[in-house]
Amino acid sequence: MALIEMLQKYGTDEKCREILTKLRWPEGVRCPRCKEDRVCWLDSRNQFECASCSYQFSVTTGTIFNDTHLPLEKWFAATYLLCEAKKGMSACQVQRTLGISYKTAWYLCHRIRAAMVQVDKPMLDGKLEMDETYIGGKDKGSVGGRGTDKEIVIGIRQRNGELRLFHAKDVKAATIARFIKENVSKDVEMMFTADFASYPSAMERAGLPRTTHQTINHSKKIYVMGDIHTNTIENAFSLFKRGVRGTWHHVSAKHLASYLEEMTFRFNRRKNSDLFTDTLRHMITAPVLTFERLTA
Ligand SMILES: [Zn+2]
Repeated sequence: MALIEMLQKYGTDEKCREILTKLRWPEGVRCPRCKEDRVCWLDSRNQFECASCSYQFSVTTGTIFNDTHLPLEKWFAATYLLCEAKKGMSACQVQRTLGISYKTAWYLCHRIRAAMVQVDKPMLDGKLEMDETYIGGKDKGSVGGRGTDKEIVIGIRQRNGELRLFHAKDVKAATIARFIKENVSKDVEMMFTADFASYPSAMERAGLPRTTHQTINHSKKIYVMGDIHTNTIENAFSLFKRGVRGTWHHVSAKHLASYLEEMTFRFNRRKNSDLFTDTLRHMITAPVLTFERLTA
């Protein structure tokens, strides 16, 4: 969908509420409190009322849009921008584009981002690549990108399949083993990694046979040997890093995990023709994210 099309389609509060109602209650409106499906529309209050418990609510009650003072059209425009920006979009860009305050833009981006989370994460199988990378901090003087002031990101990518990114506290075998256990199927065909010492031990701890692990000798400057390489995961890392450098400038350690989630969400849906509607569906069904919790 082109921007102009989206603005025409969802240019009024009424049109926004209509699509959100369909996405939140595909089988018809239900009371959020008691799940009753007998509800009536109160024209005077612009709200629904439950016939059973008399609770009055709107389509945004109890969702990420809760208590918003920002027109829904702006929410929709911001969501559109975040969906379209492959390398991500900063709160500054959203502030300028929508003509809202920085604080509003920041909170808005975080709330949309909080909904850009993949709920069902199937176990990865087939041919996988795993690698680690380092984000932020100073580049000078660090060996192989590893530096004490950098944040560690571990990634697993299934060739022709999904991506998973994690903010890790270290690259010890136990940490890597946990990500493998949580994301890799027991009958994985092959895992390709660099010749970093933690991987063989991590594979073992995760209960995967040695025969399902092949390494490429990055330490000897060898990067591809037929099928053995980690180029696919490295491509995903460089996309994320371009986003950090170009749009977010600085990602605090505290929010890194949510940026990783956002990027993964968008990346795994890159062939999805209706990412925008899909994101709206997540937003209207995700729990409330309060400002207090975000800044805590
Ligand atoms: Zn009710």
